[in-house]
Amino acid sequence: MLRASKALGSFISTPRKANILRTMATFSVPQTQKAIVFNELNGPLEYKDIPVPKPKPDEILINVLYSGVCHSDLHVWKGDWPVVPKLPLVGGHEGAGIVVAKGDQVTNFEIGDYAGIKGLYSSCMSCEYCENSYEPNCLDAVLTGCQHDGSFQQYATANAVQAAKIPKETNLAEVAPILCAGITVYKALKTAELKAGEWVAISGAGGGLGSVAVQYAKAMGYRVLGIDAGHKEALVRELGAEAFVDFETTPDLVEEIITKTKGGPHGVINVSVSDRAISQSTQFVRPTGKVVLVGLPPAAVCKSDVLSHVVKSMQIRGSYVGNRADSREAIEFYTRGLVKSPIKIVGLSELPSVFKLMEENKILGRYVVDTSR
Ligand code: NAD
Ligand code: ZN
Ligand code: ZN
Repeated sequence: MLRASKALGSFISTPRKANILRTMATFSVPQTQKAIVFNELNGPLEYKDIPVPKPKPDEILINVLYSGVCHSDLHVWKGDWPVVPKLPLVGGHEGAGIVVAKGDQVTNFEIGDYAGIKGLYSSCMSCEYCENSYEPNCLDAVLTGCQHDGSFQQYATANAVQAAKIPKETNLAEVAPILCAGITVYKALKTAELKAGEWVAISGAGGGLGSVAVQYAKAMGYRVLGIDAGHKEALVRELGAEAFVDFETTPDLVEEIITKTKGGPHGVINVSVSDRAISQSTQFVRPTGKVVLVGLPPAAVCKSDVLSHVVKSMQIRGSYVGNRADSREAIEFYTRGLVKSPIKIVGLSELPSVFKLMEENKILGRYVVDTSR
């Protein structure tokens, strides 16, 4: 172990030296910052000054430069789900930025590193699920932008174990959507257990999750059929879908999908916020195929006709964000250039209008907020 006993200059490699220099770098952290805060569910989204949080011993403080806006942020604000958020709350869970401070137990991040805020803030790391790397399924999981203040602020704390590593040369605005949308759909595609050359239908293909799902699916070797509103077809095809079905105008959507995929897709990734679309996917999936549930319409039930479910021997599986390995792999697909981020950047103060567009199903790709305005 030379490095402990010899002078740094002679035995430490250049990248390691850069790391050490970065460790010594300091950032001046202000006392207050801009954030979007709400005090009650479905209440006013206030753009205002709030204190900058201090990192706990196991946390890093990230200067969030950009944050994606996920439909889950809208669900949380509206109170669509049984999960009770902390109030007042700063939402957001797709934050990308720079580590500007850290707690004294943190050894895996240095000041100046790029880091990402994910949906999973922390899990207990000692239960059966955590032991088996099902961290999101931990009964004590804490969610960012729900139970812990998230990325719709300029400075956010993140648990250092769960925070995502982002390589230094990465475009922080473009990588932001990978931190929830990318990780989630990559995991969902793994959950569908498809073989290269098989068909996968992405229901909700033109939205935030869908637009990256199409690309991950293509990169993983699958044939993609996208389902969404007709005005999103051009983008969905450009991102790699071989076939497209317009859910608004197609008279018999189930028949059309079965015809286009010559027997139904082998897998379906449901990322729409529509229970009708989810139940339809059990009808058009190919016998022995897998229906993966990802989108979370409030109080939705997936209806599957038992006789055809049995005769087709199909499977319905839930998929929920991803663990640390899924996260690293999903980011690697992005940094290798296999997945592009179809984003539109607006100011953080414009978040309420993004939520409005989202509610009206008008989002094409992903909106990313720039926290400096
Ligand atoms: P989004 O609003 O960006 O996209 C939804 C898309 O679905 C839109 O393009 C919309 O036009 C389309 N759509 C609506 N009705 C449809 C229908 N009947 N058929 C096909 N497409 C239809 O939302 P998003 O950010 O991509 O999130 C999608 C859902 O996934 C949300 O419910 C969100 O909470 C959920 N989500 C789940 C997880 C998870 O881990 N399971 C993670 C992140 C997000
Ligand atoms: Zn999300
Ligand atoms: Zn656990």
